[in-house]
Amino acid sequence: MLTPKGKRGKRPFLLQLQLDNNKLKLLIRSVNADLKKIMIDFKTLSRKQLIEWITSRGHSTYRGRQIFAWLYRPGITEFSQMTDISKKFREELETIATISTLPYTIKETSADGTMKYGFTLSDDHIIESVLIPEEDRNTLCVSSQVGCAMGCKFCLTGTMGFTRNLNPAEIVGQICAVQEDLQSMNMGTVNNLVFMGMGEPLANFENLITSLEILMDDLGLSVSRRRTTVSTCGLVPKIIELGQRIEVNLAISLHAADDETRSQLMPINEKYSISDVINACKQFPLQKRKRIMFEYILLKGINDSDEDARKLGRLLRPIPCKINLLPCNEAPELPYKKPANNRVLAFQKILRDMEYTVFIRTSRGDDISAACGQLANKHTG
Ligand code: SF4
Repeated sequence: MLTPKGKRGKRPFLLQLQLDNNKLKLLIRSVNADLKKIMIDFKTLSRKQLIEWITSRGHSTYRGRQIFAWLYRPGITEFSQMTDISKKFREELETIATISTLPYTIKETSADGTMKYGFTLSDDHIIESVLIPEEDRNTLCVSSQVGCAMGCKFCLTGTMGFTRNLNPAEIVGQICAVQEDLQSMNMGTVNNLVFMGMGEPLANFENLITSLEILMDDLGLSVSRRRTTVSTCGLVPKIIELGQRIEVNLAISLHAADDETRSQLMPINEKYSISDVINACKQFPLQKRKRIMFEYILLKGINDSDEDARKLGRLLRPIPCKINLLPCNEAPELPYKKPANNRVLAFQKILRDMEYTVFIRTSRGDDISAACGQLANKHTG
């Protein structure tokens, strides 16, 4: 019931709004959603950004640090749980800020132990993360965008096109959710992180940097920078900037050793050629004993010949690096085939004879569509 202010000397009139319970709930939900849009989500901020925000409202740096530390403790979803902060300040925060969470909505476990998590975002888009448990480590592959604009021909995400960037809360939220799930199964923690899921991380640069800052912060998730790898298809100016802004491992999706083949597979090569990428890698600051990882998908009859292997070896000569060979993960939507095992081994041998460290990464989670983009494709039709 709303009661507009009556005019002086006259009796106020009453305006009655008759809403049944369901309509009222819908109205409250939509008002709350609108409010959330204008409130700041603390999970999108690095420690430095949060402290700046808190101090700009007249509170101390110490208070900002304290709140940041609360955000990444397990199970913290409300300001009321931050018990060493005054009630008055907590109540003030509740009116201007939120703490988002990103629970997974889909989980599939493969016969080989690989786990695929799907996350439904607030705008109903689905992103995915893949966990690969191994004897000595748990590797999590995270997404940085909904879809991808790069259009690599061998990649299902590339066929979906680009929808939007993920914000830092949506990137870090994937790791938080998987950490919690691992802990509930007594499987330890995520201790190897790779940005190789949906999207091109360097095309979402500022959100990537903020996410990395949160992840590596000892008050955040304390993920080791030596065990965090950002993979790119070759956004050359951003490769150099990444190295200048944050200490992290670099992986390059190369997939061909000459421009003609690479341009057929990866449209980005028309903008930044192989020699541009190699030059950027030469400028990337490497920590002691660290090397750049080059990813090379082996596609039958396209880039898997002996000559391709020799060309690749010659090309990478100036770079301290390792090479990951990935026999193509076949998908009905894509035209590429996996080379025979002896072809893969021959390719590896040529590179090993040229004194490279070369791994063959066999595909995991085939029974749960674990290749990048497969899960989201399946659940969005
Ligand atoms: S391989 Fe990576 S950069 Fe290329 S389309 Fe797929 S997600 Fe995008």
